[in-house]
Amino acid sequence: MKIIIDYTKCHGSGECVKACPHGAIQIIGNKAKVDHDKCDLDGLCIPACPHDAIYFSEDA
Ligand code: SF4
Repeated sequence: MKIIIDYTKCHGSGECVKACPHGAIQIIGNKAKVDHDKCDLDGLCIPACPHDAIYFSEDA
């Protein structure tokens, strides 16, 4: 399982960066980028996104 950013929806608002307690998300080139080595899959970034751009993928 992995956190996935839908780049067609991401506006780079950075709300997920603020929501992530592990520093696993950075805004690079106006899009959120997840460092999967730092992510502990707590899901806190998902409701933080105002554009519904973040989701779990079971098969990623
Ligand atoms: S699931 Fe949690 S640890 Fe992973 S990127 Fe989102 S807020 Fe950060």
